[in-house]
Amino acid sequence: MYAVRLWSVRHARALRRVYEFFSALAPRLAPLVRLLGRRRTEALLHPIERAAKSLMFDCRECGQCVLSATGMACPMNCAKQMRNGPCGGVRADGSCEVDPAMRCVWVEATAGGKSISGDAVARPTPLLPAIDMRKAGRSTWIQVIEGRPDPAFQPPVGARSLPESEIGPLERACADGRFVVTIEIAPPDSADPQALLARAARFDGLADALNITDGAGANCHMSSVAGAAILAAHGYNPVYQVACRDRNRIAIQGDILGAAALGVKNILCLTGDDVSQGDHPQAKPVFDLDAVSLLHIARGMCDKGEFASGRKLERAPDLFIGATVNPFVPPYRDRVANLEKKIVAGARFIQTQFCFDVALFEDFMHEVRRRELHRRTRIIVGVGTLGSAKALAWMASHVPGVHVPQSLLERIARADDQKLEGQRACIETIAALRQIEGVAGVHVMGHRNEDALAGIIEQALGRRGAAT
Ligand code: SF4
Repeated sequence: MYAVRLWSVRHARALRRVYEFFSALAPRLAPLVRLLGRRRTEALLHPIERAAKSLMFDCRECGQCVLSATGMACPMNCAKQMRNGPCGGVRADGSCEVDPAMRCVWVEATAGGKSISGDAVARPTPLLPAIDMRKAGRSTWIQVIEGRPDPAFQPPVGARSLPESEIGPLERACADGRFVVTIEIAPPDSADPQALLARAARFDGLADALNITDGAGANCHMSSVAGAAILAAHGYNPVYQVACRDRNRIAIQGDILGAAALGVKNILCLTGDDVSQGDHPQAKPVFDLDAVSLLHIARGMCDKGEFASGRKLERAPDLFIGATVNPFVPPYRDRVANLEKKIVAGARFIQTQFCFDVALFEDFMHEVRRRELHRRTRIIVGVGTLGSAKALAWMASHVPGVHVPQSLLERIARADDQKLEGQRACIETIAALRQIEGVAGVHVMGHRNEDALAGIIEQALGRRGAAT
């Protein structure tokens, strides 16, 4: 079926014209639908639609066709069913994080979108809402005949305005234009909060916020919402990470309210690694939302004070909302469109995947500045180190979305003290990133490597931690 998808993307421009022609004419058939009755018309129309779309697009019948907004590539073929991709796990050769035998649907969708628009670099695709499961397996054509509205949604409007006393430290630092430092902490495999607090304590005085991962790499740990609440209760400023992989929109919205009620001020919206990457590959992947639809819902809760259903909240959460981007995987030049889409959907800060390749990141930032996106969000760049060239090479080949240049691997492998050389390289990366216009800070990551990370922050940024 891959050949089918490739064909539709290659002919995206012509197919889009056919679609526009059909959608302009279709409402004229509405009287016929009324005459025959909706149910009977759908029974007649649906088998034809199913056969045609299956043949031409490898259609999965979501019942809310968005082909014209996704470069004529059916997004339901994405292994995470992302409506607003690509995810950050696309492999270097453009194949899917989950199924390496398949080309990433969103790499194809991006190519199809550019073919339709004629742009050399991709523009963001329309923001698409989370799928309505009730419509799966139903006809979309009949909706077009009935003149249904365009599936693209507009983000909530209105600036976030909070009393000064309510603004959290990370938002304050970003608003003041200070170079911020955030640190990723993996919650423990333990029911003992002290294990988490001990990790956090190593960064006292060093960080503006501490990210609590949500089942990072699809592995099970203490929950992010609980970890963030524990840190908030002890005076830290946590970033509560939310992955769409494990919970549906009902559970996620409940957790967002719970986190805000427990004093959490920041949230990071992610799609999440697939379950196949972690220690429970037999689990059911949820992906009811993707990062963009989650951003939209979180903004709706904070800015409009309502659930995704439109039901009003008694009190809206006050959250500084962020998202992730990965400039280091295909489609490289077009990744900026994904950033722009997340900004439009509501991301006020961005944290990136590990940056081991400053030259590649500079290319990305060049396009970011050209579109002035760095003025609309704060871009915090992921940095970090591992203990050896072997560990780094393992991460590059096993962790979705991590790109490590061969020259860096060779440099660390040649060193007498590989751990120290890795730290030196990280400090140099931070120094280089500080020179790039539009970089707002660094997001320091490294699995259970607290002492090394704290030392890097102290040396690279001159901050002094309470524990040193
Ligand atoms: S790489 Fe990600 S976005 Fe692309 S098809 Fe696979 S899961 Fe979907």
